Amino acid sequence: MGEDCPNAPPGDCRPSRVQGTHGTSAAKQEVSSHVRVLVLGGDGYLGWPTALHLSESGYEVAVVDNFLRRRYDEELGVQSLVPIEPLEVRTATWHALTGKRIESFVGDLCDGDFVTDVVRRFHPDAIVHYAEQRSAPYSMIDRAHAVHTQQNNVVGNLNVLYAIAEVDPSIHLVKLGTMGEYGTPNLDIEEGWLEVEHKGRTDRVLYPKRPGSFYHLSKVHDSHNIEFTCRVWGLRATDLNQGVVYGQQTPLTERDPKLATRFDYDGVFGTVLNRFVIQAVLGEPLTVYGSGGQTRGIIDIRDTVECIRLAVANPAEPGEFRVFNQLTEQMSVHEMAKAVADAFPGVVEVENVDNPRVEQDSHHYNVVFTGLQSLGLKPHLLSDTLITSLFPVVEQHRDRVDRAALAPTVRWRHPTNPLR
Ligand code: NAD
Repeated sequence: MGEDCPNAPPGDCRPSRVQGTHGTSAAKQEVSSHVRVLVLGGDGYLGWPTALHLSESGYEVAVVDNFLRRRYDEELGVQSLVPIEPLEVRTATWHALTGKRIESFVGDLCDGDFVTDVVRRFHPDAIVHYAEQRSAPYSMIDRAHAVHTQQNNVVGNLNVLYAIAEVDPSIHLVKLGTMGEYGTPNLDIEEGWLEVEHKGRTDRVLYPKRPGSFYHLSKVHDSHNIEFTCRVWGLRATDLNQGVVYGQQTPLTERDPKLATRFDYDGVFGTVLNRFVIQAVLGEPLTVYGSGGQTRGIIDIRDTVECIRLAVANPAEPGEFRVFNQLTEQMSVHEMAKAVADAFPGVVEVENVDNPRVEQDSHHYNVVFTGLQSLGLKPHLLSDTLITSLFPVVEQHRDRVDRAALAPTVRWRHPTNPLR
């Protein structure tokens, strides 16, 4: 990575376009009747459906992205199973269907001046921050990918914190973290904070983290930086430790194929349940890492977007670092494979493969996740209906699958791994 291009995927050095696609000087007071939300990473798997959900819910929405995720596809030689349109086509389609506008700003969060400029010009009431490198295997490929992940995520987040502090500390930051920050401690996992009694004294401390990859570590570093700025600058923030997301459609993305969001299946970016669904349709064995006894928190993509709406509608207090565990149920990897196999009409083989990760196969896992439900979340629990609804999506695009990309190639115990 050259100095002039510090934030490209390793080996890809292109200048980022630092610009708003619709130059705007709209001052906040001109739209004071609207609550404004800036979605960072609004071109991504979750960011795009979230932008639609917020726009439909009456918020004035703008998105920021530098298309880094699309460049990882080029680097890894794979693509989303479901074709996705360029951002300008997505926003134009949404406008044609609903009359609502989603403004877009193209640029890199690692460019601090760009971030401050966007925050000053759009002047949101809340910022939803999704814009990070989000794959644990990608962060474990080699040194360059670990450095890129931590640089992109930690520096980008720091620039967001500075922009809020400089422009308007009352802007509510809603930041996506991950349940992987906690690891699998032999204690129940609380929502971010832990009451501790030690040698006769008590304190409320940040829940101790034992993350499982350089990616998860970047999220822990983010959480510490956010908590620090709440304490020192009085910022208000909600840190959402999200479980593994599954599903590909929301009622709004379903309205037009041009509004579709990504569906990743490869060994680097494919998340476990979505990958199992794709393997089932292709007639490939569902590859369970290790014994499959690892338990994970999971959440339906429709609940993800609603959690964000609830967090935005119920902001943290000034100075508050609020943490919610964003999941709706817990399940072992083996149970997820079984759920997909049971829902599939044909024969499905489940294959236990060597675990490329370093993680416990069998462990205590009991997570508290009452915060978002107390704000009103009504979870969609994993059902045969949801799984079954994904099969035709995969069937329709099965010709786009590169089967070789399904295999895990990144091994945690090795400091250097092949890309494919
Ligand atoms: P994604 O990669 O599809 O989306 C992230 C978006 O952010 C991409 O469009 C990317 O181009 C953009 N981006 C990344 N770095 C940027 C930068 N420096 N400047 C501007 N834009 C940048 O990921 P996703 O699956 O939608 O996840 C979104 C967030 O949710 C991530 O922070 C991720 O860690 C978190 N999360 C996701 C899951 C999951 O299962 N998908 C689970 C837990 C947490």
